[in-house]
Amino acid sequence: MPGFDQTLRPFLWRAERLYPDREIVTRTPEGRRRSTYAEYGDRVRRLASALDVAGVDRGDRVGTVCWNHDRHFETYFAVPNAGAQLHTINPLLPDEHIQYIVGNADDRLLFVDPSLAETVASAYDADAFASVERIVVVGDALPDVDLPDAITYEKFLRGHTADYEWPELPGDAPAGMCYTSGTTGNPKGVEYTQQMLWGHTMAMLTPQALGIEDSDVVMPVVPMFHVNAWGFPFAATAAGAKHVYPGPSPDPADLAALIEEEGVTITAGVPTVWLGLLEHLEDRDADLSTLERVVVGGAAVPEIVIRRFDDMGIEVLHAWGMTETSPVGTVARRKHGLEAADYDEQVTKRAKQGLIVPGLEFRVLKDGDEPIEWDGEDFGELLIRGPWVTDEYYGRPDANESDFEGSWLRTGDIVTVDPDGYVEIVDRADDVIKSGGEWISSQELENAVMAHEAVDEAAVIGVPHERWGERPVAFVVPAEGADRESLPDGIEALLREDYPDWWLPDAVEFIDAVPKTATGKFSKKDLREEFADEPLIEGQTPDARE
Ligand code: AMP
Repeated sequence: MPGFDQTLRPFLWRAERLYPDREIVTRTPEGRRRSTYAEYGDRVRRLASALDVAGVDRGDRVGTVCWNHDRHFETYFAVPNAGAQLHTINPLLPDEHIQYIVGNADDRLLFVDPSLAETVASAYDADAFASVERIVVVGDALPDVDLPDAITYEKFLRGHTADYEWPELPGDAPAGMCYTSGTTGNPKGVEYTQQMLWGHTMAMLTPQALGIEDSDVVMPVVPMFHVNAWGFPFAATAAGAKHVYPGPSPDPADLAALIEEEGVTITAGVPTVWLGLLEHLEDRDADLSTLERVVVGGAAVPEIVIRRFDDMGIEVLHAWGMTETSPVGTVARRKHGLEAADYDEQVTKRAKQGLIVPGLEFRVLKDGDEPIEWDGEDFGELLIRGPWVTDEYYGRPDANESDFEGSWLRTGDIVTVDPDGYVEIVDRADDVIKSGGEWISSQELENAVMAHEAVDEAAVIGVPHERWGERPVAFVVPAEGADRESLPDGIEALLREDYPDWWLPDAVEFIDAVPKTATGKFSKKDLREEFADEPLIEGQTPDARE
């Protein structure tokens, strides 16, 4: 039996002792803020003692609504190391989802960025936020919006010393939490235990996954509210690497400047971010020579991104994962032997979702329970399990029944596996849209559209898009006598009441009837096929599934 469980604590201890001067850099609206692991360790302990005094107990949840910055990173070690649970909340979600998430998680404290204070104020509802005792604004001054019981971060820390003793925690202590809102219905909460985060961190460090080292300068562009920024803050600390946080809403110029001036060696984000950076670089000179690898995930990487970065001597590592898998599950590394293949073949493999990370297992089943052939053509649903893959959702027996099979997680991703073991997603079982790495529920949208009095029926599908991956298009059957001219604007106005801009369909198409399956359900497949050759929106690309 090991003498001590697998927890995050030794990662921080080691970074403080071995790399006290290694830097943590954040881009802020006022300029770059710099600190070191030595200073970080002190601040993290001060935060832990402030949490203690605020009455945060073992297993209590502490929510964050923050962008990528050093203060958010302080909560990453302070909250779980103190025995509480760090619950990162996605501020891009519709208000109703945020209300559900905060209420379901019973968050006791909320850490909120000043630039997101309005988002929280707009979602604030005394009943849904009943568990929230205090809002800590992660800035120097309180914003000019109505947030009850708000206090600034520095005031929250004031008076607390760094001589806080970390508790000894069991490996199965809940440490993190993140909601996933892919499918219909309410978002589903995934809990991360100490040992899940430990295992995932160790896997990230291996060369078989991402091979993060102490010489690396790590810049997670993927938001820290998306599965702990894919685990990069933990892995960078475990390695003793330098951290670079891009702060609120970085644009491509900000990212290029950070890479160039801070010497970033590895960065990570969804394809949309890299398409933006590549476009920015087209007519500008930027020295990205320190950059060695770009981890692209959350949605499929277009081959052109791999080729363009290759031209600059930068390796794209395409990775697949889910909130449920902590998240990294596969990485499309160049497998031993592939160096000998011709370049196009290499790119084809590297554009797939990749090779399973050591420590995890998967299987692919068709027609219920028949394993597929690993021939790159046979396809089925991907099931995965392992030490950092969850086997249940928080308080959701309904979803547990449908999404798990014993220890196996049903991913909802329809995949092929080639003879080399590269997994490739060819479709999704669930009817959802992923735009810029963020989910849109097509069913929720079509229910909202059908609430319009001049709409008889509506179906929403995701259309492939060069920039965003997918964008929603609404197919609408107008009610008899409806004014077709004003209807699209009417639908938009209705949706705007409840949904953020980026959820709104890019186009509304009128049809006579929504195609149905034999059992009377909407057949989106038929709809997709019917309109496969028609350009419906600007930026549309051919559907890879056709
Ligand atoms: P989330 O839980 O929000 O991280 O979403 C997980 C889902 O995003 C997966 O089940 C896939 O459908 C999709 N996804 C994640 N990474 C990729 C990728 N590299 N390529 C295509 N789809 C991806």
